[in-house]
Amino acid sequence: MSSEGFRRSGHLIIISGPSGSGKSTLWRRLVEHPWVTFSVSATTRAPRPGEQDGKDYFFLKEAEFEARMAQGEFLETAEVHGNHYGTLRRPVEQALANGLDVLLEIDVQGAGQIRASGLPTRSVFVMPPSMEVLEQRLRARRSESEAQVQRRLSIAAAEMAQSKDYDFLVINHEVESMVAEVMHFLGLSDSQEPVR
Ligand code: 5GP
Repeated sequence: MSSEGFRRSGHLIIISGPSGSGKSTLWRRLVEHPWVTFSVSATTRAPRPGEQDGKDYFFLKEAEFEARMAQGEFLETAEVHGNHYGTLRRPVEQALANGLDVLLEIDVQGAGQIRASGLPTRSVFVMPPSMEVLEQRLRARRSESEAQVQRRLSIAAAEMAQSKDYDFLVINHEVESMVAEVMHFLGLSDSQEPVR
């Protein structure tokens, strides 16, 4: 099929998975693709060392987050690990209108709201190989306290139980093969014609 005169329409690509599953690594690889852009979420959680406002997240005070929510500025919101997170509507709708796919790295609650929005969506859930590996990865990050690690582990099991609602499930045994599998599913592999 020739791509001449072909006007592609963008999709929302939802990437979910427990903290430490490797979904951020997948995200970084997908966003290198010329058809893919990403949405910077807003959150009320404190920045981790090295995180930048406007790049990793828009870090908002609770009152500002709530004000924006009341204005209808979010496509979806969720409370995760005691903090608020949300996807801003405007930049996402603009990118879709430009024919780009928009990556959303969001939790299972947000994914449900996006599916219900009626926007064109493909969802991918990233599984760690085991709970033991997940725990090792969370500890190796050294960015969270012991209590936070325990909290993330207990939420991980509940999140994984909802993976059945996703279009594609991938187990992160090894990064390169995970990336290749997901690219293929999304029709973003070099050798593939766009699946639109
Ligand atoms: P973290 O604090 O580790 O960056 O993210 C914690 C969780 O919040 C992750 O599961 C991540 O996918 C989720 N998250 C990040 N941004 C959003 C968002 O805009 N909406 C929703 N629903 N979840 C988000």
